[in-house]
Amino acid sequence: MSIVLKTRREIEIMREAGRISAQALKLAGEAVAPGISTAEIDRIAYDYIKSQGAKPSFLHYNGFPATACISVNHEVIHGIPDKKHILREGDIVSIDLGAVYQGFHGDNAATFACGKISPAAERLCTVTKESLYVGLKKAVAGNRLGDIGAAICEYCVSRGYGVVRDYTGHGVGAHLHEDPSVPNYGTPGKGARLLPGMTIAIEPMITEGAEEVKVLRNDWTVVTADGKLAAHFEHTVAITEGECVILTQC
Ligand code: MG
Repeated sequence: MSIVLKTRREIEIMREAGRISAQALKLAGEAVAPGISTAEIDRIAYDYIKSQGAKPSFLHYNGFPATACISVNHEVIHGIPDKKHILREGDIVSIDLGAVYQGFHGDNAATFACGKISPAAERLCTVTKESLYVGLKKAVAGNRLGDIGAAICEYCVSRGYGVVRDYTGHGVGAHLHEDPSVPNYGTPGKGARLLPGMTIAIEPMITEGAEEVKVLRNDWTVVTADGKLAAHFEHTVAITEGECVILTQC
């Protein structure tokens, strides 16, 4: 696959897909509280996306069984919602979901606090979210992919965190995952050049400890190898000559 540039019209559709994705994420995040199951949160996202005439992008994607990936504490990404997984005070809950509307996808993620969380967990979430915006600032036509990844990586590593390398952001559009891959590390000035009309998902996955991850025996859930916390924030954006346009906004 090569990088597919989108027309203005297609980006307008993606803005609507992004709005639905962002609102579903917001509603799911607002439901995070001690005592709720991750399956109940998933249902809230599913119901909202369907109510908007859209479809959950992740449901049945490569066999994934739910609307949202819900990854708690040391789980980094691809956690499977489960009615037996009841959230507890102090958990950090990463929710990643997308919606497909009129043939185009939006994809976004955020990590939410369940009740009162530790100062260390709070700082990890804050720095991860900030690193996404540091990356977004570099997502400008004429820059290269390495500029985005290098900026995210430098921001997190200089604050003592690990940057997951085994999974990356990606192009997004008529397919949930398109070229190019958008790593959260890189070398400034290297990699594909960013062009107006590119639509990409930037999604730092940041760890409290080492960057190594492993996949659980369910073949989906990615966890930190050392069992320490992870956080994840993501937006889908359109590249323009100026600042990128965040499409996953409600
Ligand atoms: Mg993504």
